[in-house]
Amino acid sequence: MCPSNGHKPSPIWVRPDKVEPKEVELASDNDQTDNSRVNSMIPWTEIDTIMFDMDGTLLDLHFDNYFWQTLVPQMYSQTHGLEEQAALELVMRKNAEAKGRLDWYCLDYWEEELKLDIKGLKATITHKICIRPNVEQLLQELHLHNKRLLLITNAHPASLAIKMEHSGIADYFHERISSHELKRAKEHHGFWEMLKQQAPYDPERTILFDDSLPVLRQAQREGIRHLYAIKQPDSKRPGLEAEDFPQIEDFRHIMPSELARLDK
Ligand SMILES: [Mg+2]
Repeated sequence: MCPSNGHKPSPIWVRPDKVEPKEVELASDNDQTDNSRVNSMIPWTEIDTIMFDMDGTLLDLHFDNYFWQTLVPQMYSQTHGLEEQAALELVMRKNAEAKGRLDWYCLDYWEEELKLDIKGLKATITHKICIRPNVEQLLQELHLHNKRLLLITNAHPASLAIKMEHSGIADYFHERISSHELKRAKEHHGFWEMLKQQAPYDPERTILFDDSLPVLRQAQREGIRHLYAIKQPDSKRPGLEAEDFPQIEDFRHIMPSELARLDK
């Protein structure tokens, strides 16, 4: 069940004049933790462009982990007559071999490699596509502050389309870009420079939220100034250990309205 997916969002960025700022709710004092105070230090007034990763950042990574680690091995087992454990090991081995290449994210590659209808299979579990907590509230607030919102994902365009259709968050973004369009993954050298050709941005005034450390490290190498990781990309798994980048535990901690309240 996805409690936050029950409605289509308003296309606020199209008609910002129609949105009343009073709709933005402030967190109560009781909600404050030391971590949220740290996270609230995001200097929103110095940021024009906000880039969001999709899987594990905007959407619960449980969908993808369940798909690749449970459903695909099951279907491989049924289709090709292999024991389930052997099918799981085979899928995981092929997965590990493709890791680090754009192929790893490419549904066409996996359809050929596994001889399975991967896109069709994804369509059977769209009820598992879940928006992470407080994502929509943050997107709405950022529109109220006239920020430019980009969705930058390694997901295959077909996967991006399925996720957008079933999450209903597509209209929040001024642009939605799959790294397949640029023919290199976000963690690969030169991706962020190439992205500038397609969607110009000032790296000094840009923030990226992404649950992938290799992606954040590459963005850092290419000059993006404000970089944040995600504490718990998969709601069914424990949170990740903090590494090189500050982690967002809950987007409600970094709402611009929350920052304004703390400044008072
Ligand atoms: Mg991700």
